[in-house]
Amino acid sequence: MAKYTPMIEQYLAVKAQVQDAFLFFRLGDFYEMFFEDAVNASRELEITLTGREGGAEERIPMCGVPYHSAENYIARLIEKGYKVAICEQVEDPAEAKGPVRREVVRIVTPGTVMDARSLSESRNNYIVSVSYSGGGYGLAACDISTGELYVTRLDGSFELLLDELNVYGPSELLGSEALLEQLRSGSAAWLKSAVMTPRDAAAGAGGLAPEGHFADSELARLPEGGRETVALLMGYLLETQKRSLSHIKHIRVYEPSQYMIMDPFTRRNLELTETVRDRSKKGTLLWLLDKTVTAMGGRLLRRWIEKPLMNAEHIQDRLEAVERLYHQLILRDELKQALREVYDLERLTARIAYGSANARDLVALKSSLQQVPQLQELCASSGSATLARLAARIDPCRDLYQAIAERLVDEPPVSVRDGGMIRAGWNARLDTLREAGANGKQWLAELEKQERERTGIKSLKIGFNKVFGYYIEISKANAGSLEEGRYERKQTLANAERFVTPELKEKEALILEAQESMIDLEYDLFVELRDELSAHISRLQQLAELIATADVYQSLAQVSASNRYVRPEVGEFYDLRVEEGRHPVVEAVLEDGVFIANDSVLAQDEGSMLLITGPNMAGKSTYMRQVAIVCLMAQLGCFVPAKSAKVPIVDRIFTRIGAADDLIGGQSTFMVEMMDIQVMTEKATPKSLVIIDELGRGTSTGEGMAIAQAVIEFLHDRKGCKTLVSTHFHELAHLEDSLCQLRNYRMAVKESGQQVTFLRKLVRGAADTSYGIYCAQIAGLPSSIIDRSYELLLAFEARGEVQQAERETAAAQQAETVPVETASAAAVPPATASAPAPVEQLSLFAAMEEPAV
Ligand code: ADP
Repeated sequence: MAKYTPMIEQYLAVKAQVQDAFLFFRLGDFYEMFFEDAVNASRELEITLTGREGGAEERIPMCGVPYHSAENYIARLIEKGYKVAICEQVEDPAEAKGPVRREVVRIVTPGTVMDARSLSESRNNYIVSVSYSGGGYGLAACDISTGELYVTRLDGSFELLLDELNVYGPSELLGSEALLEQLRSGSAAWLKSAVMTPRDAAAGAGGLAPEGHFADSELARLPEGGRETVALLMGYLLETQKRSLSHIKHIRVYEPSQYMIMDPFTRRNLELTETVRDRSKKGTLLWLLDKTVTAMGGRLLRRWIEKPLMNAEHIQDRLEAVERLYHQLILRDELKQALREVYDLERLTARIAYGSANARDLVALKSSLQQVPQLQELCASSGSATLARLAARIDPCRDLYQAIAERLVDEPPVSVRDGGMIRAGWNARLDTLREAGANGKQWLAELEKQERERTGIKSLKIGFNKVFGYYIEISKANAGSLEEGRYERKQTLANAERFVTPELKEKEALILEAQESMIDLEYDLFVELRDELSAHISRLQQLAELIATADVYQSLAQVSASNRYVRPEVGEFYDLRVEEGRHPVVEAVLEDGVFIANDSVLAQDEGSMLLITGPNMAGKSTYMRQVAIVCLMAQLGCFVPAKSAKVPIVDRIFTRIGAADDLIGGQSTFMVEMMDIQVMTEKATPKSLVIIDELGRGTSTGEGMAIAQAVIEFLHDRKGCKTLVSTHFHELAHLEDSLCQLRNYRMAVKESGQQVTFLRKLVRGAADTSYGIYCAQIAGLPSSIIDRSYELLLAFEARGEVQQAERETAAAQQAETVPVETASAAAVPPATASAPAPVEQLSLFAAMEEPAV
């Protein structure tokens, strides 16, 4: 083993504690990296790799970044999913014997960034710990940049854990090696981007138990296994952040059953917070509903959309607030105006707790607090009971406002180490020092004047630099005429000389000393204020939450009013009735034409299952999503796009929509579809809403249709959930005869010659064709292909009729075994222009009749 210099030995000892992180090792004005870290960092950050003698034979690879711009480099590494351990000098180099003592002061990880550069204002950054015990999963999700901590317990299903993780979209995951492995191997891409940090539950509990950090009353509410999950999380946070985390004190415990359940695919399919196509916000429900003006309001709205409520009373409360604001444009505008001046209180508060808030942050806090009385008043006088209750809970924190207002100047500098933060009159000693400083400046001006007179040199001036301090500067040409003995030369420039005099030297010491003490004192006074404020973190956090809530209400009200949405009637009943419903997002982005409204009735005696046929592009999937979105909007407490709406509380929305868009890990479309359907058949309840678009595609036509029918029958007979199914197989229309809750619908089209006009109107009855070739035509395929297709189709149809006849003969021969309903399918007239090859369709359809018995 090579023997290294003491400094490198020290480096290696520290590095051994933080194996999985880049070690930023502070040396003077740089953070240096050595060995493998240096090689990797130089590659990732595109910085020069150098070397350094370290006592061994070979030079040690080294690279470094300047201390003052380190944040940028750290942010870049974090973004790439790395961790960075910051190691500082923790003793004065002047007093050190041997190498200066150094310690890791913080480990920055993707789940624990505090730097605004790495955080998106509009979304939380969660670190999530998971554990498994007693047949269930514990989950704790924390955003250390806001102090939010959510804890829940999920019953034994791994799927539920995945659904819940999807809500948080963690950037870092903690858990046992085994559990993380399970997540790694079995889940979709969205989870794979999370950094996974294996942690033993035991390590989390060791000395870092949540006891002591949280109040007993907080811990008492934790569900089974919650303590271990929280311990795992807090252990890691304390270990990496190495500070008290006083802003993470409140645990928000919830039961999964408080919210509507949606799996990750459903969330994606309904485009709640990101679009399927490019994962952007534009074109999503969040984008549409987000007229919040504060960052925290934006984040809360996201959460409301991700977690629609199940409790009718709570939903009514929200709707009540939205309704009051809906009708009061002026009040809404005033609220918005007041909210505009409110900064991101949650993150400000977290920075205060972290000790990283600067004077500007505190002034931002002050400006925010200044708005609170008005906000409170507006809510209290809104006429809304919900907002009045909210107003009553607001603590305007006037004392904190005062504390900042009387101490800090209105526009302090960014740096807290340069003075200029504290108001005159706040601290007597500071005022004296400042006066001394000002007197000093005055004295210098006076000296300059005197020296000009004495020497007769008009261009003589007094200046200052960090190396030489104060000096008298005289141009080269004039320097010769100076009085002997009085001026001591300090520095020679190209065309000037700089001198000092004994009296200037003496005064300089006084001025600089005053300045230094002034800056130190300002810093101390600032930190004192910050510490004082940090004792009130929980008050500020509660205030932030209330303001965010008010912001979300005004946002929902504004969107509802400007799009003519209506208040839905929401409750624990079965029937869903929407009159003239619209898809809010499609409506909003529609470039030409108007959105055609459609009714939806999914009711016990009028059919709770709709089988929708119609050509591609007719509007089937838009319609089905619209029903889901209306339910979701109602349950999150928003008005809905309709003329009137009665919306039952839905416990879970299942969707099986689109095919090619969500291929995961090489599984076939069909396999994905079947897996989704499996979950549906297992988990749907009568309170669920099921949406299946193009059921049964992705396999052969016959098999597809067979499975489609079997699934429809299963959901109809066994589940009783409200169901919307669209299909290309218009042959399935016969099911209406045998399934009492099923109703055939189609998207109306108008045909004239080879032209088809989509009317986008849902009408009773099944379509008799799927217009595939027409679609190809409007997609712009060459007319030679289109004509050839029509030609082939006619030929297929002719053959189809022959097969049809053959099939009828065969059916007649098996008459005893074929049930009436299935036989009626054969009676459905063959497609006149159906897209999928009817030959295969019909022959396989014949083959499937038996299993359907
Ligand atoms: P399908 O599922 O039948 O293939 P889509 O639902 O994808 O059809 O609708 C195709 C397009 O038609 C949508 O992108 C939308 O622009 C438009 N559209 C759908 N429904 C309506 C409607 N009710 N009013 C106006 N345009 C609509």
